[in-house]
Amino acid sequence: MNKNVLVTGGAGYIGSHACKALKIAGYTPVTYDNLVTGWQDAVKFGPFEQGELTDRARLDEVFATYQPIAVMHFAALSQVGEAMHQPGRYWHNNVAGSLALIEAAVAAECLDFVFSSTCATYGDQDNVVLDENTAQYPTNSYGASKRAIEDILRDFESAHGLRKVIFRYFNVAGADPDAEVGEFHQPETHLIPLMLQAIAGKRDKLTVFGTDYPTPDGTCIRDYVHVCDLVDAHVLGLEWLKDGKGSRVFNLGTGHGFSVREVIDHSRSVTNRDVPHDVGPRRAGDCTKLVSGSMRAETELGWTPTRSKLHTMIADAWRWQQTGHYDK
Ligand code: UDP
Repeated sequence: MNKNVLVTGGAGYIGSHACKALKIAGYTPVTYDNLVTGWQDAVKFGPFEQGELTDRARLDEVFATYQPIAVMHFAALSQVGEAMHQPGRYWHNNVAGSLALIEAAVAAECLDFVFSSTCATYGDQDNVVLDENTAQYPTNSYGASKRAIEDILRDFESAHGLRKVIFRYFNVAGADPDAEVGEFHQPETHLIPLMLQAIAGKRDKLTVFGTDYPTPDGTCIRDYVHVCDLVDAHVLGLEWLKDGKGSRVFNLGTGHGFSVREVIDHSRSVTNRDVPHDVGPRRAGDCTKLVSGSMRAETELGWTPTRSKLHTMIADAWRWQQTGHYDK
């Protein structure tokens, strides 16, 4: 039986971990990636097709070749800072690209769609519990582009019978404990890999973006979730759709927030090394606090995160970092 799943962004950080999880679960992940932010040597678990999301003819060809039973859509530009300065790239690549993909999926009658959205769609909301019913007010073009794709999926559900599971991620961290795949962005902008690079001496220092936020230690608070737990939820989401349970939105976070300073302290204790850092101004577009307020993924999907303790995430990321996989 055909168990092909089209994984856009399968050469990227989360997509490559998803391909491994799909393969282990008995599916064949077919990676579709333009290699702008992904890496071909991260495609280890199934076939690779290079292409742009906006290239509808290429998408049609790939759907015809593999006849996938579902789409997992990870491919996106995802840097908040960059999104603030280049919104056009975000609307073009993320929104226009996703629209082409969704249209191609519907044309190919591939109607089960798992989408990687983000807690950035909620925006900066003080004293609000962030669950799946919370109104979405993104503060940056990255979050806005993801919210727009959620809207497109909703409209294609009403008009064309698309079924979707939308995952709104909190902060994804860690790496495959076997270190077969891991996180590598160029340039890197995320807190934990930057911190580990500073600890390893691969960069001078980490700059803490703002210590004047209204939080106990003045730094931003995030809810970190292990990439392996996150992709396990995607396999459950795929099975949810295949069981005919219909469209659903799930937050993916642990419900526990850590400040930037707390992440620094944990990194120091995991690596037993000093964390070279200084303090800089706030980064435009950053929210004060993003912590999931929902257990829906646990209660409905049966998701049980097993590696999302902060020290485990940092230890797995550190192991990956020490492989020197992408060191030039
Ligand atoms: N951060 C920081 N210095 C950096 C990178 C990030 O202080 O060099 C902070 C950032 O302001 C945010 C948190 O770390 O509060 C997580 O940022 P990241 O870019 O990892 O994820 P985001 O929350 O933007 O998706």
